[in-house]
Order: sequence, then structure tokens, then C-alpha cells
Amino acid sequence: MFAPDSLPEPLTAVLAQVRDWTSADAHTTLAGDTAQVRAGWVTGLQQLADAVAAATLTAVAAFDAAGDGQTLHGAASTPAWLRGACRITGAEASERVRIARRARDLLADPVDHVRDGMLTYEHLRAVERGVRHLPPDQQQRAVDLLTDLAQVAPVGDVRTAGKHLQHVIDPDGALADTCQQFDRRHLTLAPLMDGMTAMDGLLDAESAALLTAALAPFLVPADQDDTRTAAQRRADGLVQIVQTATDHALLPIVGGERPHLHVLVDPRAPHRSAGQPCVCGAELADTAPEPDVLPPGRLTHSPGAPAFLHPLAVARLACDAQLTALLLNDQGVVVDLGRTRRLFSPQQRKLLAARDGGCRWVGCDRPPAHTDAHHVASWLDGGTTDLANALLLCRHHHRAVHENGWTLQITNPSRGTHGPVTVHGPNGQHHTSHPRGP
Ligand SMILES: [Zn+2]
Ligand SMILES: [Zn+2]
Repeated sequence: MFAPDSLPEPLTAVLAQVRDWTSADAHTTLAGDTAQVRAGWVTGLQQLADAVAAATLTAVAAFDAAGDGQTLHGAASTPAWLRGACRITGAEASERVRIARRARDLLADPVDHVRDGMLTYEHLRAVERGVRHLPPDQQQRAVDLLTDLAQVAPVGDVRTAGKHLQHVIDPDGALADTCQQFDRRHLTLAPLMDGMTAMDGLLDAESAALLTAALAPFLVPADQDDTRTAAQRRADGLVQIVQTATDHALLPIVGGERPHLHVLVDPRAPHRSAGQPCVCGAELADTAPEPDVLPPGRLTHSPGAPAFLHPLAVARLACDAQLTALLLNDQGVVVDLGRTRRLFSPQQRKLLAARDGGCRWVGCDRPPAHTDAHHVASWLDGGTTDLANALLLCRHHHRAVHENGWTLQITNPSRGTHGPVTVHGPNGQHHTSHPRGP
């Protein structure tokens, strides 16, 4: 890193003064001052920072024009030198040099305004971004327009106006930009060794708006006991959208099958306790098609450690699933494939949707499409797949019952789930839930 032996004389004086103002004493002095004085300090320091930013542009422009980065340290470029010497990111360094190079001609007016305290440095950045992709003969007019706007409008408005200008003045360029952004889209799923999967991606504006709109209903807490963070609700929402598409056979067929989850459970394994199908959990078979089957650029999936499910999660999934018996020989080879049986028929699902109108949890408004049919008495323990033993629960509340210690209790045994059901929480909370119709 470049560390100068000594600073230019005026800078040494200014720096010493600023450092003095921000000492511990200044804190005490300001605390005893009036609101007016404190506000003056806050806005005044902002002006100082902007004036310093404008002065920096002048220094950078002179440094760049003389090729000093190359002379001093053999730097490949001025941005490369700035990145190391000022410890800023490459993008910041490039932008600073770009603005500095135009600070004497194209951007002279806004830079002057930043120095005089009429604009902030953020406004200047917005003006530069708004014009940099325009044809050169249109740039000066656009700078003048945006500079006028910047003096009366917040930075966000200047950015938006810059985008509009680009679409009006240079529609072809704007289209090329949009296409370039679209090409940068990606989604990567990286399985981790602990069984979780890391997700990383980038979406173009239109796709992001679509996803944001689709996730919006899931961002509302399901009820007053819903302690999930917004990020957790967003993750649950995304999975729910995928599950709905899968359940309703909306996804394309790959390898002769629609995408679905395969859970392998050995029914000979001893039951540990009620509602648990096995002692040791179950393996999630990898059902993702080979990457070369997928359209390029759409989704990448790399194999990791095999995913394993807790017995309670297996019980929840089994509540509303298709069961296929596989008869394996001693070597684990399938020798017979039983008939696939759906626990709840599509007809029963429709009747449940009509009766419950969505998730039966008190205060939850998830619609039937976002619910599982839950067996109150587990079918693993002999509970029947009848409407009177079933109710609809959204994924969040289905998980609450199977994995988070909540219980459902039928109030009137002769009516089953057609009548009221009491919901008991692990901390003594309880609510009564009634079928509420479509
Ligand atoms: Zn269930
Ligand atoms: Zn719910």
C-alpha cells in the first residue's frame, strides 16, 4: 500500500483541525449545545465532505494526466493505483477516475456545484451515471438537464430521470444495456457438507419484480406467534411457490416424471415413538436431473453430501404424499414395485379446501393451494385418511405441529375435524380453530 512520508502543508493543517473536532471532548461540548448548533455541525460536515470529494477529483485528474501511478509504482492504470493507495474497491476507483477525467469539461458545472455546497457528491455520481452511456453529442444537454434537476430533487429522482433520459435519447443503447443485464442472470445451488444448500443468484429487473410480487404474500407473519425473520419468510415463500407448482402438476416432465421429492424409508426399522416412521431418519433421494438435461444458463446444481431428513420431517411429508412400496432384495436391488397410492385423493383435497378455506390455523390466511392435508391422528399410528381426521395446514404451521411441539386436539370426537379443533402451543398458548368455508 502507498503511504506518503508527509502530506502537503494545507492538508496537514485541515486534517489536524478535523481530527481535533471529532475528539472525545467535542462529543461532550456538542451534547451541551442547542439542536440548532448540532444540526449545523451535521450538515456543515456533509458540505465539507462534498467539498473534499470535489477537491479529490481535481487532484486525481492531475495525477492521472501526468501518469504518476505508472511513474511511482509501475501501476497498470490510475484506477489500479487508487484501489491500492486509497483502499477502495475497483468499481469505486474506476468511477472516481472517470468523473475526474470529465471534471473540467462535460461535468464542470455539477462538480463546481458540489464544491460550492449546492449539490452532494452522490448527486454528481447520479448525473454521471445518467449520461455515461448516451451518444457523445447528446451528453452535454443531458448533463445540464440532470444538474438543474439535482439542485431541487433527491438523488433517487436524479437516478430515475437519468434512466428515463437514456430510454428517450438512446433507445437502442438502453435496449443493449437491458440485454446485457439479462445475460448476467444466474442461479447457483451449492450443496454444503452439513446437508444445507447455499443459493446465489442475480436477476434482471423484470424477473426480480415478478419474484418480489410473488413473494409479497409470504412476507406477512402467519400469526402472532410467527417469530420468523423476513428473510426466513422469504425462503419459506419461495419453497412454497415451488411446492404449489409441483403439487399442481405445473412443471415440465423430465425423464418421464414430473419433479418431486423422493424419500426412502425402511418400514422394517423399529418405531421409536408415536408419529415417527423410523429411528434413524430417511435419505432424500437425489431427484434433480443431470445438469446437461437442463437448459443452459437456467439452473446449476452440483452434487454434495446426501441430504438426510429427521424422522419428524419424514412424518410431516408422509402426511400428504404418494406412497410406493419398493421390495428390495438383500443387495438392495428393487425386485418389485408396488402400486402408488395417494394418501388424500384429489377429490378429498377439494372437499377439504371447501371446508377449511385454507390453513386452519387461527389467524392464518394461506389459501388451499399453499397447504398440506394433515392427519390429526398420524396414519403411521393407524389414523385414517378420512376428512374427519384431516385438516389443511400451511407449510409453516404443518412444521409447527410435527417439529416444533404444537399439538392439535379434536374437541368433539363425533365430529372430528368438521368441528372445532384446539391448538396447543409448547408454552401453554391455545387457540380454537373452526372450519371457515371457502
Ligand atoms: Zn401432518
Ligand atoms: Zn398457516
